[in-house]
Amino acid sequence: MELEHYKIILDHLIPAKEGLALELQGGDILRIIDEQGQQVSDLVAFNKDNLKEHFSATQTNKLNAHLNLKEGDFLFSTDCKKFFQITQLTNKQAHYNFIFSPCGDADNYQRFPEKPKGETCLGILQRVLKKYEIDWRDMLEPFSIGLNLDIKKDWTIETKHPLTKAGDFVELKTLISCIVGITACPQDRNMCNGGKLKPIRVKLYRLK
Ligand SMILES: [Zn+2]
Repeated sequence: MELEHYKIILDHLIPAKEGLALELQGGDILRIIDEQGQQVSDLVAFNKDNLKEHFSATQTNKLNAHLNLKEGDFLFSTDCKKFFQITQLTNKQAHYNFIFSPCGDADNYQRFPEKPKGETCLGILQRVLKKYEIDWRDMLEPFSIGLNLDIKKDWTIETKHPLTKAGDFVELKTLISCIVGITACPQDRNMCNGGKLKPIRVKLYRLK
């Protein structure tokens, strides 16, 4: 969207395998930018006034009635409140979904028993959101930005290379005061980050 009435208040590069926590106000515009291309970012969000209320995959998927989110879609909470609206997707072929949990030690242990340990989105989110004392079990429903999930006719799901290119971004309009955690996904056990771990840029705009 046009940002002439907004000022930029943050331009931050999350290094590979790192994360960022932010406190957002209603009206804020958040851009999550895939700086180099083919890098997934997980975003979790919590109502600032009630940290038990958070992004919900099941509510968002049900209320939008499709799995791959589009411009204009809302991201809903456990309580069916609109937390964000997607105001811009620069790459309409890329995938934006609420299907998988963030990568974590427990699921890596099941999926990749030969290499279960290491950095994970869940570990990063716990680290950057530590001061809010949010239970990790409330971080299991991220907006997976760029995660290319191929859902086949028999309902099996294959994780493929991201379809994002350098500079592609998701723009979200914030509709509620909230706390967010954002990662540069460190998963290197499959091709979800295209075989190389890269940074993610975050830009935050607020009304002048
Ligand atoms: Zn991850």
